[in-house]
Amino acid sequence: MPDNGSATRPLRVAIIGSGPSGLYAAEALTRHDEVEVSIDVFDRLPAPFGLARYGVAPDHLALRSVRNTLETVLDDPAVRLLANVEVGTDISVEELHRFYDAIVFTYGAATDQRLEIPGEDLDGTISATELVNWYCGHPDAAGERVEAAITAATSAVVIGVGNVAVDVTRVLSKTAPELDHTDMPQHVLDLLAATSITSITVLGRRGPAQAAFTTKELKELGELADADVLVDAHDLALDPVSEADIEGERRRERNMEVLEEWSTRTPARGRRTIRLRFFSQPVEITGPDRVTGVRVERTRLDADGSLHGTGEYTTIDADLVVRSVGYQGMPLAGVPFDEARGVVPHAEGRVVDDGTVVPGEYVAGWIKRGPTGIIGTNKKDATATVRSLLADAAQLPRAAQPDPDAVTTHLSERGVRYVDVDGWHAIDAAEIALGESKGRPRTTLHDREALLESARRGVRD
Ligand SMILES: Cc1cc2nc3c(=O)[nH]c(=O)nc-3n(C[C@H](O)[C@H](O)[C@H](O)COP(=O)(O)OP(=O)(O)OC[C@H]3O[C@@H](n4cnc5c(N)ncnc54)[C@H](O)[C@@H]3O)c2cc1C
Repeated sequence: MPDNGSATRPLRVAIIGSGPSGLYAAEALTRHDEVEVSIDVFDRLPAPFGLARYGVAPDHLALRSVRNTLETVLDDPAVRLLANVEVGTDISVEELHRFYDAIVFTYGAATDQRLEIPGEDLDGTISATELVNWYCGHPDAAGERVEAAITAATSAVVIGVGNVAVDVTRVLSKTAPELDHTDMPQHVLDLLAATSITSITVLGRRGPAQAAFTTKELKELGELADADVLVDAHDLALDPVSEADIEGERRRERNMEVLEEWSTRTPARGRRTIRLRFFSQPVEITGPDRVTGVRVERTRLDADGSLHGTGEYTTIDADLVVRSVGYQGMPLAGVPFDEARGVVPHAEGRVVDDGTVVPGEYVAGWIKRGPTGIIGTNKKDATATVRSLLADAAQLPRAAQPDPDAVTTHLSERGVRYVDVDGWHAIDAAEIALGESKGRPRTTLHDREALLESARRGVRD
C-alpha cells in the first residue's frame, strides 16, 4: 500500500453531491486496496440520490430502482452521509480543506436553460425542471407556480424533443391508474389525476432525424391508455442533411420507423392527443398576462446543417407551456468554473484553475462533462476521476483536522442539522409506510421539514 502521507490514518475524502456520480465515486474509492479511505458524502438536500430521486420519471420504476444499488454505497462502513448540508452556504470549500485531504465535486448541473424569447415568464409557462421537481417531490419545487399553471389547463405545448420533454409529455398524458403505482407525492398524483389537459403539442426546432429522444422513450408515448400520437407526414420527408444524419445511426433509424408508423394513424374520437411537430421554432409565447399560445416559425436545414427560419409563422393555442431545452451547471463559490460550458474545468478529473491543477480537488459527473449521458455514464466517469485521485494520494496536501468528528462538531456549532444514513433509512421507512397507508408502494415526502422530522433519529441538532 503506498504511503498516503499518514500511515496511521485513512485518506479523508469529501464528496460534494450524493447523486449517481457522487455515489459511484464513493463506490470506486472503497473498491480498491491501494489506499485506506474514509469518505463523507455531502448533499444540500435531506435525502440522497440527486436526479435518481428528483429527475428520473416516477413511472419508470425499473430505472428508479437504481437507487437501491446506490444505497448500498451509503451502507459501506467507510462512507458517511452528511445530507442537508449545502457546501458554499453551510460550509465553504476553504473550510472543507481543513477537514479533508481530497474533495470530489459531483454537484450536478440541474438548472434549466432558458429560451430567451418574449413571453417566457408569462403565467402558465414553466420549465421542465420546475415540473419535474414538482412531480418528483423535490423540497425546493415551486409547487404553487406549477399547480397554478397545470390546474385548469386544457392545451399544452412542450418545447424540446429530448428524453426529458418526452418524460413530461408522458406524465401529463397519463391517467390516474397509470400513475397510481408510482412514488409521486399524494397531492401531485391527485392533481395529475384531475387534469383537464386534452392536447399536447411537442415542438422540435430541427427535424425528426436530429431529435435527441431515444426510441424506447419515444415508443412509450404510443402506448398510453388515453392518448393518441399524431405526426405530420410532411415533417418526415428527409432532406439530404437528415438522410446523412440517419445513415448507419440505429437509434435515429428506429425513431424514424416509429414516427412513420404514427404518421399513418387516425386519432380516436374523445381521446387526448399528443402532436409531435418538427421544424418548428418558437419565437414568442403570447398572452396578455397568462399564456394563450406559442408563435412558431417553420424552419429548414441548409446543406451544411445550419438552421434557418423560413418566415412562415403560425400560432398554436395553448394555456400551458413547458420548456425543456436542456440543463446547465452553476458555479460553486471557491471552485473554478468554465462559464461558457457550465462545467468545472479539469484534466483527467483533476480540477484546473487557469491551466494549473488545484491540489486535492477533483470533479465527476454532470458538473464535469455537462448534462449529458445516462446514469450509467457517470459510473465510468467517476471511476476515471477516482483513478486520478488515487494516483495522487501520496502527494496530496494533508488536512489539518482529519478526525471525522471535527467536521460534524463544526457543523453542529453552526447549527446545521445534518442527516446521516440512519436518518435516510428513517425517511425511507416513513415514505414506505405512508405509501402503504394509501395502497401504494411508496409516497415521496416533499416537504423539507417533514423529511427532517422523519430523519430525526439520524439528525444531530
Ligand atoms: C429530468 C431528468 C430525467 C432523467 N431521466 C433519466 C433516466 O430515465 N435514465 C437515466 O439513465 N438518466 C436519466 N437522467 C440523467 C441522470 O439523472 C444523470 O445522468 C445523473 O443524475 C447525473 O448525476 P450527477 O451525480 O452528476 O448529478 P445529480 O444527479 O444532479 O446529483 C447532484 C447532487 O448534488 C447535490 N448538490 C448540488 N449542489 C450542492 C451543494 N452546493 N452542496 C451539496 N450538495 C449539492 C444535489 O442536491 C444532488 O443530489 C435524467 C435527468 C433528468 C434531469
